[in-house]
Parts: sequence; C-alpha cells; structure tokens
Amino acid sequence: MTPEEFRRYGRQVVDWIADYQEKIESYPVLSRARPGEVLASLPAHPPERGEGFEAVLADLDRVVMPGITHWQHPGFFAYFPANASGPAILGDLLSAGLGVQGMLWATSPACTELETRTIDWLAELLDLPARFRGDGAGGGVIQDSASGAALVAILAALHRADGGTAGREGITRRHTLYISSQTHSSLEKAAKVAGIGSANVRVVDSGPGTLAMAPAHLDALLAEDAAAGAVPVLVCATVGTTSTTAVDPVPEIGEVCARHGVWLHVDAAYAGVAAVCPELRWVNDGLDGHVDSYSTNPHKWLLTNFDCNALWVADRAPLVGALSILPEYLRNQATSSGEVIDYRDWQISLGRRFRALKLWSVIRWYGAEGLREHVRTGVRLARDLASWVAADPGFELLEHPPFGLVCFRPRWDGLPDGEADAATMRLMERLNASGDLYLTHTKAGGRVLLRMAIGAPATGDAHVAAAWRRIREEAAEQAAERADPGR
Ligand SMILES: *Cc1c(COP(=O)(O)O)cnc(C)c1O
Repeated sequence: MTPEEFRRYGRQVVDWIADYQEKIESYPVLSRARPGEVLASLPAHPPERGEGFEAVLADLDRVVMPGITHWQHPGFFAYFPANASGPAILGDLLSAGLGVQGMLWATSPACTELETRTIDWLAELLDLPARFRGDGAGGGVIQDSASGAALVAILAALHRADGGTAGREGITRRHTLYISSQTHSSLEKAAKVAGIGSANVRVVDSGPGTLAMAPAHLDALLAEDAAAGAVPVLVCATVGTTSTTAVDPVPEIGEVCARHGVWLHVDAAYAGVAAVCPELRWVNDGLDGHVDSYSTNPHKWLLTNFDCNALWVADRAPLVGALSILPEYLRNQATSSGEVIDYRDWQISLGRRFRALKLWSVIRWYGAEGLREHVRTGVRLARDLASWVAADPGFELLEHPPFGLVCFRPRWDGLPDGEADAATMRLMERLNASGDLYLTHTKAGGRVLLRMAIGAPATGDAHVAAAWRRIREEAAEQAAERADPGR
C-alpha cells in the first residue's frame, strides 16, 4: 500500500469510525450472532491474490458488525466499561503508524521516555505516594492488563522472597499466595502460571457481614503457613472488586504484611482511576504504608482504549531482578551504561507496543479537569440509579461504594431463593435480548444480583433513566406472566 493509497483508505477508515460513533445507538447492544455464524460467513481459505481495501470495508459492515457487541453503546452496562475515546483511538493509530517496537530504550528512546513521563503524570493525577514515582527506588510501567500486572508482581515477589532461587533453580519449596473470595480470578491463574499452584492459593475470610478481606484471618493464615515451612509470597488486596466493588482494608492488611515480610499487591483495576477526583482519593488509603505494587486500568474507566494497565512498584529492583535476561544480541551501549530504562525487564514479553502514546493523548486532550468530569458523571449517574432502586419497594439494593457499579434485584415477593435467582437470571436474559441495554450478574450474600456498571463516555442521564424504566417494566411483565401463565 503506497502512502497515497494509505491516505485514501485511511480517510475512509476514519470516516467509518466517526460514522459508527454517530450511529452507535441504532445497533442492539449485545450481538445477536449465533455461535459459528460469523465464521460461516468468512471464506475458508485466504485469497491467493491481494484484494482491494474496499472489499475489507464492505465485509466489515456485512460480516463483522453483526458479530459485534457494542461496548461503547450508551446502553452498555455489563462487566466494567472498557472506555474508548477519540484521542485514545488516534494515539493508538499513531502508534501503529510509527510501528516501533520499544523493547529496549535504544530501539526508540521516545517510546521509553514518553512512557516514563506519562506514567509519572498518571501517578500525580491519582496522587499516588512519591515512592511509586520513577525518580526514587520505584516506578511505573504500562502493562497489557491487570492480569499481566498481577503475574509480574508475583514474579517480583517470588524473587524477593527467595533471593532469586526460584528463577534459577525452579520452585523447590512450598510457596503460598493470599487472596479473598472476592479477588479477581486472574490471581489464581497467575499463581498457576508462576508455578506456585492453585492448591497453594489461600482464601482469606471476609469480615462478618462484609465482602472485605479480614486482616486478622490473614494474619493467622500467614503464621500457620510459615510455621508449617511454607514461604508466603504475596497477598493481593482489592480496591473495588469485580463482583461488587467491595474495598479491602488496605492499611490494616499492609500492617499484617509488614509484620510477616510478605509482598502486598493492591489490585484496583477498575476503581483506582477514581482517584483523579480529590473526593475519591480515599481509594488510595494505605498506599503510603506497606504496599509493594499497585495496579489500575486506564482501559476500564479512564477513556483509554484497551489495552492499557498501569503497574507501579515501590522498589523496582526485585521486578527487574526477576525478569531481566541479557542475551548477546540485545547488548547495547545504552543498556550497559545503566542510564536508561529497558522496559522489557519490567514485563513478561520482550517486545512492546508504544502504548504510552494513547494514554498521553488522553491526558493531554482531557486534562485533569476532563478526566475528573468523566469519573464524576459515572458516579453521579450510578448514585441516581441507586436512589431510584432504593426508593422502589419492589427492588432490593446492595450497599455499594460510590463508584459506577450498582447491584440490585427485584424482590420477587414470595419466591424461594433458588427460584428468585432463576427469575433474576431470566430477567437479565430478557433485558439483554431487547437490544437496548446489556447487563451482567453476580452472586453476593448468597443471591443472584443484576450488575449495572455505568461509565461509558456516551452514557448520559436519559440512558440510565431509560434503562431503569425498562428494567421495571420487564420485571413487572415477568411477574405478571408468572401469576398468569396463560397470558
Ligand atoms: C477487570 C479486573 C481485572 C482484570 O483486568 P484485565 O486488565 O482484563 O486483566 C482484575 N482485577 C479486577 C479487580 C478487575 O476488576
């Protein structure tokens, strides 16, 4: 493709994306494709001769779009948001356009140094403690995902726990990891990948009547395991759990970890970015104590297209110790001088994309002010919804921290628990089939709840109000059908 052809098709692609943004509400939020449908519309064999790009664009509309679930639709309330934004899309396009691979400082100094500056900017925007900034012993790095960040943190913690023995000789002793029942599944997966094994993942109780990790039980488990000869490696505390945005008591957990000399990783994948707002900075409570690593996802609620996770460590030495390897073909003067960062030593893979460009674009376009406004809108819309749910005697609301997620369900008066859960699931399916909105569910306190996560940039007051109207109507309709099956 010549630059001239690129210019022509590039304009078409950008127009296509802008058109998509304008008409996104005309699509059903949740794709209606059946399993295998997209696959069946695609040729089984690749073309022998190149085709024009028009053919690709035509298939985008014909084949791809019916199989798309519209994450940027204002009625998308499932999982957590995965915000996209104009500046992030353009930043990503520029990254693709430059086509650099930033494994070493020397392979594109700007790729490394722009990342260092941008991640420090983000630390400042979130008001993270100074020790996570790159000018001290710590530092930040962009990872692909919170899952990847957790794995990297575990490998650094393993390195610190046994002075690099595991990296050299393999894991020879029993190592243990501590989570709660609400911790994201990526921690158990990372324990499997790191060779710790899921059998050595200990589940700490939640405090009575809460979904938050109980520090006293953590203390007891750590003591018990150490007495039995195990090496406790890492504790993961969560700020804003995936299920209900519950918050673990990080300050107390930090004290326990300090006493036992165990690494504390704080997973704030969704909620951490809320700290752009001073009134939500309490999400950082405890980070100035004994926290070794902290991770949050600008790719969820902070307007930066997937993938973009930010991981900070208080001390980069065990991280680099765990992950650096220097084969002859990567030797270079800049690396030997010790004056530069090679981010390949901060992640699993060697190669890395220029992800900082999109985060940098986002921060520059919105400014601290714009980022705060976006988070505040989500918080306000969720608060409105929660107040409507609480005021409706037909619904029950789960108490929740003031982020963008609201968990609730109809009371289904008179139905035993199991049937009420089935009715809630049925309601969710009906709502999702409507095409107007998309919700997911969770289980908390022994019952199934609908999860409505607000925070897509396109979602406004009218969308949340319409979704709530729809939920009430559909629940009433379902209750009426149950009362009179012949309807
Ligand atoms: C979403 C989420 C994750 C996983 O995020 P990825 O970036 O997709 O790996 C991990 N932890 C929590 C608390 C989350 O909400």
